[in-house]
Amino acid sequence: MMEVVPGVYKLSGPWDQADLGANVYLVAEGGELTLIDSGYAGKAVRILKRVHNLGFTAHRITHIIVTHNHPDHVGSLAALKKMTGAKVIAHQADAPYIEGRLPQPGPFRPALYKALWHPLLKLLQAEPATVDIAVSDNEELPVAGGIRVIHTPGHTPGSICIYLKQKRLMFTGDLIARRLDIKLPSLAFTADIPQLLKSIHKLAGIEFDVACFGHGWPLKHDASRKVKEFAGKLRN
Ligand SMILES: [Zn+2]
Ligand SMILES: [Zn+2]
Repeated sequence: MMEVVPGVYKLSGPWDQADLGANVYLVAEGGELTLIDSGYAGKAVRILKRVHNLGFTAHRITHIIVTHNHPDHVGSLAALKKMTGAKVIAHQADAPYIEGRLPQPGPFRPALYKALWHPLLKLLQAEPATVDIAVSDNEELPVAGGIRVIHTPGHTPGSICIYLKQKRLMFTGDLIARRLDIKLPSLAFTADIPQLLKSIHKLAGIEFDVACFGHGWPLKHDASRKVKEFAGKLRN
């Protein structure tokens, strides 16, 4: 666990994939607690324990914002919702997958990879959870001290970045990831690569200081300049 900036915590350990799945973040702002993403299935108790260990009352989690429908981000969503009564926020285009009205899409390429993964993905299938607040591009909500939704489709149709206005902090979901440098997300799991690239350019047009990725370590300084540099190297 680490404090990214005051009031924003990365609940997952250094190796997010081996720990919770994707990174899970906690925002403690205005007397309310908000989670960003929920990890794989079976991680709810571990997540709430870490919230408790930070000195917070886990049942004060009022919202869970989901960056997109993949099982490493929504796996423990239904369980966390049951345990806390939190409201789920997600983009309207991913809501049918999160709610189980459409099957969660598997990897998209190559075809063989998809065939290999299919049985495994069944195991990773997340328990459906109702989306209470279905959002769209540019929507502002008085959650976590004030957020703006940036619709960045491509990885999934309803992928979103969440801008935390007070902290000048961007949660990128799987639009981009980070190892040492910023990198593309898993393309095998990306629905539409040209659209993903377009969305990265969209993000590159926004100013922010801090970036928190779905996978990898946060960038604490100069984050939007680094995203711009990365976008500049990509072909459209
Ligand atoms: Zn992911
Ligand atoms: Zn993903």
